This record gives sequence, structure tokens and C-alpha cells, in this order.
Amino acid sequence: MAVSQPQPQPEPVPSSMREVVEHLLAQRGVNISALAQVVLDLQRPYSPDLTLDECEDSLWHVLDKREVQNAVLTGLALDMLAERDLLPEPLGGMIRRDDPLYGIDEILPLSIVNVYGSIGLTNFGYLDKVKPGPIGGVDRRMGQVNTFLDDLISALVAAAAARIAHRRGPS
Ligand SMILES: [Mg+2]
Repeated sequence: MAVSQPQPQPEPVPSSMREVVEHLLAQRGVNISALAQVVLDLQRPYSPDLTLDECEDSLWHVLDKREVQNAVLTGLALDMLAERDLLPEPLGGMIRRDDPLYGIDEILPLSIVNVYGSIGLTNFGYLDKVKPGPIGGVDRRMGQVNTFLDDLISALVAAAAARIAHRRGPS
């Protein structure tokens, strides 16, 4: 009698680009619920009845946009390649050291905030300066190159908050 061998289970293949991005962000230590809390802190002064669920939902809407996904994929690929010494020099060293003169890590996420106009841009500037909660945490995470990651998640939060501001209008 033939004995059937257990078949190795294939890795689940993400079915959408958003799932690829979601998986990648999780792999880099990003918790979307923690980012939703920053969105709430940012936007609640203007919308006192805003909920955490609404903020998380706004982040998912932002992550559904193709230009946002492309920015995240590009920035995180550069972080990971720099981490593994796979980028040519002097680029690899600049990204590994988060060289203040490099600056492209702050330019790339503008393609995320630009989707939501000037509110997105001013939110992004504020988050870059204050680095609240998980954004500052990313900056300090050891053993990982996060030169792009901190700016990308600032942009996601800035865009999600701006989206809420646009949808709710002045209170
Ligand atoms: Mg940076």
C-alpha cells in the first residue's frame, strides 16, 4: 500500500501589492495599529470624535495607493540592501550611516504626502521634527538600517491624517 508523504506547504503568496507592502512593513517591525495612534493624536484636536479604527482605516486606504506602495518598496529595498552591504559605495555608506547630507530618504516619501496636498506636507514636516512614539522608536532600533523607514512611516501617518482632514472638513 502506498503511504502518502506529507507534502511541504508552500509559503503563502501575497495576493495583492498591498499585502506585499504590509508583509514587508511587518518584517521591518512596523505595527500599523501603533501608527494609527499617532494619526489619532495628530488629528483629534480638529476632530474630537475621531476613533482609532477610523485612523487605522485611513492608513489602509493610503497603503492601497500604487504610488505609496512604490515609494515604500523602493525605500525599504535600499535600507535592506545597505544593511547587507549590497549597495555600491559611497551610496551604501551614506544610507547605512543615515548621512544628514544624503537627504533622499526625506525626498522619496514626498511622493506619499503629495497625494494629500499641503496638509500632508505640513504634517510630514512636523512628524520629522518631533518623531513621536513609534517613529522615534524606528530611528533608535539597533542592528537594522532604517534610513528610509522612519521617513516612510512619517509620510504614511501624515498622509492618513491629511486624508481624514480632507474627508471631514473643518469642524
Ligand atoms: Mg531618515
